[in-house]
Amino acid sequence: MSYAAPSTLVPPAPPSGAPRLRLPKLCAAVQGATPAELFERAGDALNDVKFIELRLDALANPAAALPPLKAFLAQRREVTAIATCRRKPFGGNFTGSLNSELDLLLKAAEAGCRIVDLEVESAEQATRPQLARFRAALHAAGAALLVSFHDFTRTKGLDQAASRIEAFQPDFVKVVSTARTLADNLAVLRLIEDRSLSAHVVGIAMGEEGLVSRVLGPRAGAAFTFASSGDGPGLETAPGQVSARTLLDLYRVDQLDQATRIFGVAGNPIAHSLSPLMHAAAFRRENVNAVLLPLKVKALADLLTLVRELPVSGVAVTMPLKREVLPHLANMDPLTARIGACNTLRTGADGKLYGFNTDVAGVVRPLEKRLKLQGARILVLGAGGAGRAAVFGLVERGAEVFVVNRTHQTAVALARKAHAKVLKQELLAKSRFDAIVNTTPCGMAGFKTAMPIKENELNAGVVFDMVYNPLETPLLKLARERGLAVIGGLEMFIQQGARQFEIWTGKPAPESEMFRVVELALRRRG
Ligand code: NAP
Repeated sequence: MSYAAPSTLVPPAPPSGAPRLRLPKLCAAVQGATPAELFERAGDALNDVKFIELRLDALANPAAALPPLKAFLAQRREVTAIATCRRKPFGGNFTGSLNSELDLLLKAAEAGCRIVDLEVESAEQATRPQLARFRAALHAAGAALLVSFHDFTRTKGLDQAASRIEAFQPDFVKVVSTARTLADNLAVLRLIEDRSLSAHVVGIAMGEEGLVSRVLGPRAGAAFTFASSGDGPGLETAPGQVSARTLLDLYRVDQLDQATRIFGVAGNPIAHSLSPLMHAAAFRRENVNAVLLPLKVKALADLLTLVRELPVSGVAVTMPLKREVLPHLANMDPLTARIGACNTLRTGADGKLYGFNTDVAGVVRPLEKRLKLQGARILVLGAGGAGRAAVFGLVERGAEVFVVNRTHQTAVALARKAHAKVLKQELLAKSRFDAIVNTTPCGMAGFKTAMPIKENELNAGVVFDMVYNPLETPLLKLARERGLAVIGGLEMFIQQGARQFEIWTGKPAPESEMFRVVELALRRRG
């Protein structure tokens, strides 16, 4: 099943009297505690989009915003604005009556808003003649009626919700639910696809899991999608909302079409993953029509449902999914099978999943650039997921690999399986290596232990630290001061991502561009 809008889609005709609107795909929702703050933020949002929603219900006195609203829109004829004044029992903040809500929304339309949002509960409370008068007055003012449904707890009964709304024959049907799973996005996209043939529909699942619906809604036929006006605190008007800039730059929401291939990076937590940024840069540079979305996965089965039904062309998987996914693969390369961990999925033309481990290339390639691996003595610190990829990959290249781990038994088991050697920590000071590879989290920002080994144990020509936050770890700093060659974890991150890009697209990865954008983002994060 595909959620791309059919190419023959004819936009539904507006109900008689409704204004004809040509809308951008992205609307930034703006709220403020005072009219001054609201319009300052609205002005900021216009740097990114020309379509905004003004949440009048977030103001203590929404009526006070009407004169500045009129002035604001009068000076910006190119702007399309939605006015919303949702009442408290229905998920908003407005404490006034139905009559005051209708009165405010009509005045907002007269002040220049081209769409007003009325929640379905209020529409149901209004009498038929009252609603007919309201709609006629809106149309006379040049504004369209959007009727909305919100479920702040789950995604269920979306069709019934849409039917409740359509009973009022609004100009726009907006159905918003809350995603608890990735599959909830499928329900929202299906609703959009079904209903957008006969109505202007907006569908979104709120929450982090619902990002897929925010990004892919317009591609499935939604009239538009919502963003927040910025990334700062207090700018989000709904859970899981991301900024207009992020939707445009990272997820290219205004460019997605039926041919766009969907990729994901799956894990939990996943919100701060740099994979979407890295791959967006690569897709852009290589003119690949694709997007990569963070997928918050609580259960593998949920991810697999999304991958199968959306469909998703490929996924970067993080722990613990790297192991869990193995039984679901139609095939995998022999090294992935031996390591027992797969970090890259590709969906074949047959719909089956194929598995790869690009972490190995992430370790091997940076080292290969600095030394000959055949016969090299390499110490791997740690025997977890990253350690396994390092040990198997380096042994395969003919290196003599020594494993040291906090839990010695784990090192013994790994060394036995990978044909490596195991070393006790107390022997390190007397040993010398061509390279030392740290695969423990020691030195990571916020991690208690700063160094994986003692200063007198740093006996190697090359030091490779997989940790990339901070960019220069205490281990790398010491190595640099000693004049040793150093490899930062960012290089590994880029290398494993570059191989993913190649597996997914068949094109050589633009590694330096990928490196540049991720390094910049890490420096900005501090
Ligand atoms: P993991 O599976 O949890 O393994 C962690 C390893 O570190 C285990 O061997 C563990 O020893 C050891 N360890 C944990 N705390 C320690 C401490 N305080 N002192 C000494 N050893 C300690 O984690 P992972 O997935 O392998 O990731 C490890 C690190 O590599 C993380 O910092 C991750 O960010 C980084 N990484 C980077 C990249 C990249 O692209 N640059 C890719 C993958 C991972 P025990 O067996 O005793 O628990």
